[in-house]
Amino acid sequence: MQKFAILKAQKTTKSRNIVIAIDGPAASGKSTTARLVARKLGYLHLDTGAMYRAMTLRMLWEGIRLDREDEVARVARETDIALVRGNDENRVFLQGKDVTEEIRSPEVTQHVSTVSSYPAVRAVLVEQQRKLAENGGVVLEGRDIGTVVLPKADLKIFMVADVAERARRRKEDLRRSGVEMGEEEVVREIMERDRKDSSRQTSPLRRAEDALELDTSNLSIEEQVEFIVQAARDILRKKS
Ligand code: C5P
Repeated sequence: MQKFAILKAQKTTKSRNIVIAIDGPAASGKSTTARLVARKLGYLHLDTGAMYRAMTLRMLWEGIRLDREDEVARVARETDIALVRGNDENRVFLQGKDVTEEIRSPEVTQHVSTVSSYPAVRAVLVEQQRKLAENGGVVLEGRDIGTVVLPKADLKIFMVADVAERARRRKEDLRRSGVEMGEEEVVREIMERDRKDSSRQTSPLRRAEDALELDTSNLSIEEQVEFIVQAARDILRKKS
């Protein structure tokens, strides 16, 4: 833990400091894109999905019944999640343990939409997210950043891609982490998670009215990153 720095709000001058919100459905390419945009602009990258995943892992560790909202809420308030700056990407710590890889497991993925649907869980994490973004210079990605967490974000992007392309990307990510899953199963998992995330009562996944929609089905990562960086630079130019 020593060689890392816990993510803290950036301290830079106001005009160089915008907030970028990237939302979108599962496996739409948000994380990779957000990480590279943040690197290009010298900003913090905040993967809010990783926070919900860590919270879900805590519930699994504690053997909490996920249909018991009161129990989940109680444990959520006593859960310590830290995002820590690594060399290339951030590391995620849960109760002091590095869980960066563990939060991507199929088991966590299967349950995360249930845990994230509870208002008490969202309240705990949204507070942390707002604190980290308060000085700007940050790229946050998730489902409700432009609509609920930071409705006044300077730049809002809603990333979409067709489900076949998203499944292909998800399969590739899983394979890299040593998990083999069939195409159909991956499509089913993505669609089920999108259904739950879009239909929950608190902060459902939806595009903010003032968000730019970015369809990445036929774009390379470089093109996606370039689109957002250019949009950010236009805003910065107007501000200065
Ligand atoms: O982005 P990722 O797919 O890792 O997110 C995992 C899950 O966390 C989502 O399916 C959703 O249930 C939840 N989430 C959320 N709000 C966010 C980010 C993620 O509810 N801002």
